[in-house]
Amino acid sequence: MIQVRHLSKYFGDLMVLKDISVDIKKGEIVSIIGPSGTGKSTFLRCLNLLETPTRGTIHIDGIPLLDKGTNVPKVRQKMGMVFQSFNLYAHLSVMENLTLGPVKLLGKKREEAGQKAIQLLKLVGLAEKAHAYPDELSGGQKQRVAIARCMAMAPEILLFDEPTSALDPTMVSEVLAVIRRLAREGMTMLIVTHEMEFARNLSSRVLYMDEGLICEEGTPEQIFDRPQKEKTKAFINRVRSLHYRITSRDYDPVSY
Ligand code: ADP
Ligand code: MG
Repeated sequence: MIQVRHLSKYFGDLMVLKDISVDIKKGEIVSIIGPSGTGKSTFLRCLNLLETPTRGTIHIDGIPLLDKGTNVPKVRQKMGMVFQSFNLYAHLSVMENLTLGPVKLLGKKREEAGQKAIQLLKLVGLAEKAHAYPDELSGGQKQRVAIARCMAMAPEILLFDEPTSALDPTMVSEVLAVIRRLAREGMTMLIVTHEMEFARNLSSRVLYMDEGLICEEGTPEQIFDRPQKEKTKAFINRVRSLHYRITSRDYDPVSY
């Protein structure tokens, strides 16, 4: 579904993505893990052209995204992106957030879009919030609305950029539960996450990114239990010791 070859990206002189080649197949759930500043967000943003790659090729369903003649908005509609910071329209109700895109961009009838929106709000457990405004919702609820809004555009693949890292710890699991539910329904997903247990349980494949490269990839068992590269081993060990600290009783999330 997505084919990336020799993708690189510079910001000025800074080479953020070095030479990324990867394939994402239909129905796969691929997690991207790795230290911050490694280019994970830039990589996702290049896939839907929120950033323009410097070199390389990206094919979405066989369509060359970077070719001049390509209808970029049309290809981009195949991909929904969920951001850390929700990005809901604050002046619109939840219902309007969910129907705006389908009506304006997909040419759906308002009523049809509304019915679909209700269905999606049920899927994310928020049917009763249809007429609320974003600032009346908790962070977890906002993120669930943001996911429903993506789904309203009927994407073929969802890209998640650390969907839970702006949330209170108490709200992480409700968002992960929604993502799990989409996974069960066969949605193709690419997820940048720091939630290692989640990545391990859900993913068909894990990519470990470091310094602008996919340093290692494999099944969750390969990456988490038997990493081969030194960098991967070091990262997994660091995350593991952090996890122990978090689960110990004296962990203080504020001072961390
Ligand atoms: P990650 O998501 O893995 O934390 P990012 O993709 O956000 O990493 O960033 C990778 C590097 O690119 C960082 O050094 C960051 O400062 C830099 N960077 C990201 N976006 C921009 C930008 N728009 N302009 C300049 N530098 C950027
Ligand atoms: Mg990032």
